[in-house]
Amino acid sequence: MTSRAAALCQLSTFQDRVPAYPHNRNFDRSGHADVSCLSKWIRYRAITEEECISAVLARHPFEVAEKFVQELLWRTYWKGWLELHPRVWESYHRSCGALHDEFATHEGYRQAVEGRTGLSWFDDWVKELQETGYLHNHSRMWFASVWIFTLELPWQLGADFMYRHLLDGDSASNTLSWRWVGGLHTPGKIYVARPENIEKYSEGRWRPSASELNLNPRPLPMDEIGAVIPLEPVSTHPPRSGECVLVHDDDMSADLSLEVGVPHVAFLQWCGLGEDRSPVVNSHRELLRRDTRDRSHAVVVETEEAVIQAVRARSTQVLHIVKPHCGDLQGSIAGLQAMLERSGIRVILHRRAWDETYFPLAGSGFFPFWTAVKRRLDRGR
Ligand SMILES: Cc1cc2nc3c(=O)[nH]c(=O)nc-3n(C[C@H](O)[C@H](O)[C@H](O)COP(=O)(O)OP(=O)(O)OC[C@H]3O[C@@H](n4cnc5c(N)ncnc54)[C@H](O)[C@@H]3O)c2cc1C
Repeated sequence: MTSRAAALCQLSTFQDRVPAYPHNRNFDRSGHADVSCLSKWIRYRAITEEECISAVLARHPFEVAEKFVQELLWRTYWKGWLELHPRVWESYHRSCGALHDEFATHEGYRQAVEGRTGLSWFDDWVKELQETGYLHNHSRMWFASVWIFTLELPWQLGADFMYRHLLDGDSASNTLSWRWVGGLHTPGKIYVARPENIEKYSEGRWRPSASELNLNPRPLPMDEIGAVIPLEPVSTHPPRSGECVLVHDDDMSADLSLEVGVPHVAFLQWCGLGEDRSPVVNSHRELLRRDTRDRSHAVVVETEEAVIQAVRARSTQVLHIVKPHCGDLQGSIAGLQAMLERSGIRVILHRRAWDETYFPLAGSGFFPFWTAVKRRLDRGR
């Protein structure tokens, strides 16, 4: 079964659990059957938020599916928010580099990432994350809160550690969720992991004592997020027959999307990013890449020169790319774009209609965003 087929099958199986999702979603039960576990595919857009929302709304009344739809829209919100505040990503990325050097031999940091803090529940989360590439949302919140406020380690290093081990590791959802826990997203509002909450929602699997946790932490000092930067305009014209399309990890189904779904387009697959991710994540990503290649007959390109040669070999001077989201990949694609343009190849950027519609609404808090999205979803029904 391909990754996309597996994602569609998982979505279909989860449909029966959608009505109970609001009551059960916060429990971290082994097997994770009360949540959809779809994020490892949605993150790569092997299946999209839009597809998931259409499928659940085709099966359930809005009121029944609302919580699940709302959670799916958190992903769109985080992506849109980061797209509009790219400085936040740049400064996170910069500080990660410096902090890695500073903390390389820091004993508290080493204990945390090796799962030997002596806090058995935290060490369990580290082990589960490293072995499976997944942590339940509630455990991610507890993990981040303990990392920041109890272990007093830099949030950026915790975010980076989680990002490298999560199958769904995503620049926006991950970085901004860590900032939310630390009180940097909603000024003054922090998320404090409490013993009774951990015990309740793990159904007694983990029972920290009050003395093991910092229960009265102060928010992290606020940083500069910069002004909202409007979205860069992109093309609305689909590729023409004979032109090339570059697919990449931020949008593994670009070949299936309406925006670029025309016949006789040659696909190239960008595999040029040598990011440091865990072996579990690397094999998941390789499966997804292979499925895209099998489906679209894409040619793998790993360097800028290989892209130039592949485009020229198809007697075209035009390459279409679905614009990567703010994050790791964006830098590498921007470098590629500059080099292609210097070589006389025209790069045409696209954005999915979903992102084009919803990202501009994500400039402030989630609830104004959700209110505006809900209105549009209502109109579409
Ligand atoms: C500290 C921290 C780090 C996180 N890092 C990531 C990350 O790197 N990548 C990632 O995809 N999610 C991240 N999340 C969000 C969330 O934990 C996961 O999306 C969710 O747990 C995935 O499991 P699921 O598919 O079973 O979710 P479900 O509960 O079944 O939700 C359905 C879908 O909605 C979306 N979703 C649900 N909750 C959130 C959320 N809070 N934020 C964004 N999207 C959401 C996901 O696409 C998910 O697949 C993070 C949350 C925290 C607190």
